[in-house]
Amino acid sequence: MAKAPVLTPRADDFPRWYQDLIGKAELADNGPVRGTMVIRPYGYGLWERMQAEMDARIKETGTENAYFPLLIPQSYLTREADHVEGFAPELAVVTHGGGKELEEPAVVRPTSETIVNEYFSKWVQSYRDLPLLINQWANVVRWELRPRLFLRTSEFLWQEGHTAHATYEEARDFAARIQREVYGDFLENVLAIDFVSGRKTAKERFAGAVNTLTLESMMGDGKALQMVTSHELGQNFAKAFQTRYLSREGTQELVWQTSWGSTTRMIGALVMTHGDDDGLRVPPRLAHIQVVVLAIKGDEAVLAKVREVGDRLRAAGLRVRVDDRTDVPFGRRAVDWELKGVPARVEIGPRDLENGTAMLARRIPGGKEPVATDALAGLLPALLEEDQALLLEQSRARRESRTTDVSTIAEAVEAVTAGGWARIPWADLGEEGEARLAEQSLTVRCLIAQDGSVPDAEDAPGNLAVVARAY
Ligand code: AMP
Repeated sequence: MAKAPVLTPRADDFPRWYQDLIGKAELADNGPVRGTMVIRPYGYGLWERMQAEMDARIKETGTENAYFPLLIPQSYLTREADHVEGFAPELAVVTHGGGKELEEPAVVRPTSETIVNEYFSKWVQSYRDLPLLINQWANVVRWELRPRLFLRTSEFLWQEGHTAHATYEEARDFAARIQREVYGDFLENVLAIDFVSGRKTAKERFAGAVNTLTLESMMGDGKALQMVTSHELGQNFAKAFQTRYLSREGTQELVWQTSWGSTTRMIGALVMTHGDDDGLRVPPRLAHIQVVVLAIKGDEAVLAKVREVGDRLRAAGLRVRVDDRTDVPFGRRAVDWELKGVPARVEIGPRDLENGTAMLARRIPGGKEPVATDALAGLLPALLEEDQALLLEQSRARRESRTTDVSTIAEAVEAVTAGGWARIPWADLGEEGEARLAEQSLTVRCLIAQDGSVPDAEDAPGNLAVVARAY
């Protein structure tokens, strides 16, 4: 008799499979207030690795970390008209403190453009103070009506970059650089998640931005997920907060700005991109546990060997966990690590000691074979790099094989309903077509140029709209 699956199979019910996996792989739990989330140690370990990899790339661009307050005076939000209109429905507002009603309510930051600008306007005096490049790692609150663990929570963790520049061109180029060198590079080379890089239509743009760049990825069910965004803010916030600088020519000028963010949503993306019916598969370059060394049974010789192998793999530069919890049945532990998606399992029992071998189970391609224990440290780094490449290849192949070029709205609906994306000339679609797609819960994820690059303008000739159902 076949054993009962640990997770609901993806083909039966993808959303249920996602929920099951998050719980069983011990990534997160629902919080007590609707839409909030408790991130468990294994999930938080993934986030810490994301932070470290992203932070290094952010710093490469010359951006420095800083911290701004969680509470923002409500009046700040109202200064930029589009911004307040976009965020008003999602705000959490603090009206009382210390048992008294506050003179001015404070909002819990949904994003920090306003408060950052209040301080930029003090810090920026002359062209010598530019560019000003700041990032913060923080939590934000947006009162989401349809929360989903990691993908859309009411409180989430993120980094938000905020920059000010002397010219339009410099700000535009910086937003594009972040998109490419920080986000694109991280997704491709660490998360092994393929994406389309494009610009949002006016309808989908960030509230207060003049242009929003996005990376959109195809999840295992063919739906799209907005992975990260990078905005050109123009001078909208500079006007609202009077962020000015003295130019070389001696005139007072408004700065040009960008902002850009990436969040714990990327953990959800990881699950929905690389997960399979047995659980998560973590790309080795991201994994905080790349190899787990398991003692099959608890005799002293086995435990000593397991620890020795663990030390040798660590010395080879791998991130290793030794699992010597022999009071828990081996089969259960093996299934647990499989669910958590640890790329390599090295299993050692009494018989292996005699042979000088261990069983090597590889989570990403699947399969299990005996390997000489002495050879492991030499073999594993290259195998893990193969696994990393395989995940990216699978993610890319999925998008490419499930994207259809179409010329009518009806064809776009058909392609998306079949479980993929459609590409349609933007000139044929336009805002009217975009509204018609919305009636069927389809969205234009982004606009791309014919050659797949990011277009300079919304109405550039030849622009294609990437149409999908989205999370
Ligand atoms: P935004 O500031 O609106 O451009 O959002 C920045 C990034 O945050 C987007 O690219 C989304 O991927 C992500 N995001 C937006 N809302 C949520 C949410 N409720 N939970 C998790 N991530 C989110």
